[in-house]
Order: sequence, then C-alpha cells, then structure tokens
Amino acid sequence: MKNVFVLAEHRREKLRDTTWDAIAAGRDLAGKLGAELTVLLLGSNVDPLAEQLAKECPKVLAVDDPKLEQFNSEAFIKVLVALLKDRGPYVLLMGSSNSIIDLAPGLSAFLDAAYAPDCVAFEVEDGRIMVLRQIYSYKVNALVSFQNAENVVATLRSGSFSFTPSGAVAGAIEKAPSPIATESLRKRFLKYVEAEKGDVDIASADIIVSIGRGIGDEPDMEMFQGLADAMGGVLACSRPIVDKGLLPKYQQVGTSGVEVKPKVYVALGISGAFQHLGGIKGNPLLIAVNKDAKAPIFRVAQYGIVGNLLDVVPALQEKIKELKG
Ligand SMILES: Cc1cc2nc3c(=O)[nH]c(=O)nc-3n(C[C@H](O)[C@H](O)[C@H](O)COP(=O)(O)OP(=O)(O)OC[C@H]3O[C@@H](n4cnc5c(N)ncnc54)[C@H](O)[C@@H]3O)c2cc1C
Repeated sequence: MKNVFVLAEHRREKLRDTTWDAIAAGRDLAGKLGAELTVLLLGSNVDPLAEQLAKECPKVLAVDDPKLEQFNSEAFIKVLVALLKDRGPYVLLMGSSNSIIDLAPGLSAFLDAAYAPDCVAFEVEDGRIMVLRQIYSYKVNALVSFQNAENVVATLRSGSFSFTPSGAVAGAIEKAPSPIATESLRKRFLKYVEAEKGDVDIASADIIVSIGRGIGDEPDMEMFQGLADAMGGVLACSRPIVDKGLLPKYQQVGTSGVEVKPKVYVALGISGAFQHLGGIKGNPLLIAVNKDAKAPIFRVAQYGIVGNLLDVVPALQEKIKELKG
C-alpha cells in the first residue's frame, strides 16, 4: 500500500492556500488507495501550524529548524529526502506555486521518484495510480500511469481540488530531527520584495469585472470601468491586457499576477487559461461572457453568456441602471 504525503506550504506564519489544495487532493487519493494521509511541515517554530493542520489530517510530521524559517529549495530537498528515505512506497503531493516549481522537479530527481506536474485528478485501478493532466491549454486530457516507479511526486493544478475544512480531526503530531541543523547552505533567503501596490486593490475586492483579449484592439475602457462601477466593483484583467499597456500589472489576475478572492467574478472576453483561473480563489460566482461557446471559461463559470461582449456589456449596464431605478 502506498503512503500519501502532502507538503504544507506556509509564509509568514500562515498556511498558504496551496496547502489546502494539496490536502484536498491527498484526502481524495488516500481514500481511493485506503492509505494513510500524512502532512509534512517544514519550518521554524511550526507548532501553531502543526496544531492547525492536525485538525484536518490524521498525521502531521514536522521538522522544526531555524534554517527552515524561510522557504529554501536546497534545504527543503535535503530534509524531504531524509524524511522520506524509509517511508516508501509513497505519493508526495504539492500544490502549485513558484516555490513548488522551484522545489518539485529537483526533489523528484533526488528521491529517484516519478514526477507528474500539474495534475487535476487521480484514479486508482487495482492499486495502480493514474493521474489526469490537462495539457495544451485544456485541449488534451492525458491520463498518465507510472511504470516501474516505486514513488511518485505530483504537483497539482491550482483550483482543481476543493477543500472543505472539517476541524473535526484529532491528528497526531510527530517531530522528526532536521538533517541540516549543522550544515551550511549555498542558497540564502535575503528578503521579501513586496509587489507594487496600486490605487486599485483587486486582492480584497468582493466584486471584480475582469477583461481579456476579447475586448479587442481599440477598446472602450470607460465602458468596462463603467460596468465595474455600476456593480460596485473593481476592474481587473488577464495578462494580454497588461502586455498591451491597457491596465497596470497590479490589476492582473493569475498565477503571475494577483490572487483574488471575490464573491462575484465577471469575465469578459477571457478564454479561461489555467494561469488566469489559478489566480481566482474561493469559488466565487463566476459569470463569463465569450463569443466562443467552447471557451474553457464556460467549464468553470456558473453563468455563461455566449455573445459579443460589445453588445452584452451595454445591455448589462442598462439593466443595472433600470434595477437601481
Ligand atoms: C508562465 C506564464 C504565466 C502566465 N500568467 C498569467 C496570469 O497571471 N494571468 C493571465 O491572465 N494569464 C497568464 N498567462 C497567459 C495565459 O496563458 C493566457 O495566454 C492568457 O490568460 C489569455 O488571456 P485571455 O483569456 O485574455 O486571451 P485569449 O486566450 O486570447 O482569449 C480571448 C477570448 O476572448 C473571446 N472573444 C474574442 N472576441 C470576443 C468578443 N467580441 N466578445 C466576447 N468574447 C470574445 C475569445 O473567444 C477568447 O476565448 C501566463 C502564461 C504563462 C506562460
């Protein structure tokens, strides 16, 4: 039977959303395998985080070392290799973040494990694990199995697994010694560089109207800003809009932009690339307007309007005006 491990990610004493994505996937896979789920927690003074995780998972294995205070792929690889050495066969799951991209491929090589990035689902057949990966911008589903691989490292596509906190688990916390306590590291954390903060804060907005390449080459920006204002929200965008210089980077939603957690997200002329959707957290009410009925955004939208946004946006504004009297 394979063990299922999940790596907890945290920053500045707070667990990151990627941790909950990974725990959701870990619960799913451990259930299918009839295996035990263990969360691996690496850091410095991690007791409060370990206690938080133990409310959701049956087992937390923590390594506490001042050298692990900040994420450092070199240190993390050393610790994870030592931790997992005698715990195979296993599947190690990690969320999706820049730190994980830095860590996962090298780690899988050091562990001599199979590596499956960007997974969206798991299947188990006769005890054999298969992972579903959506490739070529959602156009192809690839079901991947692992030949002759004892151990597997898999990363998850953001937003593919939804986490429901139970808070009801009384998990066990085990501490393991750190193998790097006396070693020196070549990589060093220097400082956090904060992203530019603009006058529009999309990260904490409840209502977001987001525009994509579909707005065309000579867009009427006032019209989109008008819709955002009428809805009491803020204007955000996909990356091509920033690339064209139409809105600043701090209004870009996505994996290389800002993570947002609104209650309502209106996507205008946005296809739904995973790099964009990866920035939308918390399952908002997603309303999409797109002229292509097969656009991937419709797979995740609760409401969809197939049509030209240049017709739909004025009609929406008219309706809002009417409703507001
Ligand atoms: C490393 C990396 C990081 C990235 N990070 C991000 C990121 O953080 N955020 C991000 O957004 N992207 C990011 N991208 C880019 C991402 O892959 C997509 O290219 C991008 O999200 C596409 O933006 P879009 O949906 O606006 O444009 P497109 O994919 O071109 O989609 C435009 C959509 O508009 C529709 N449309 C066209 N005309 C109309 C009309 N008149 N009315 C209605 N609909 C219409 C089309 O049918 C189409 O679906 C990243 C890419 C990479 C490689």
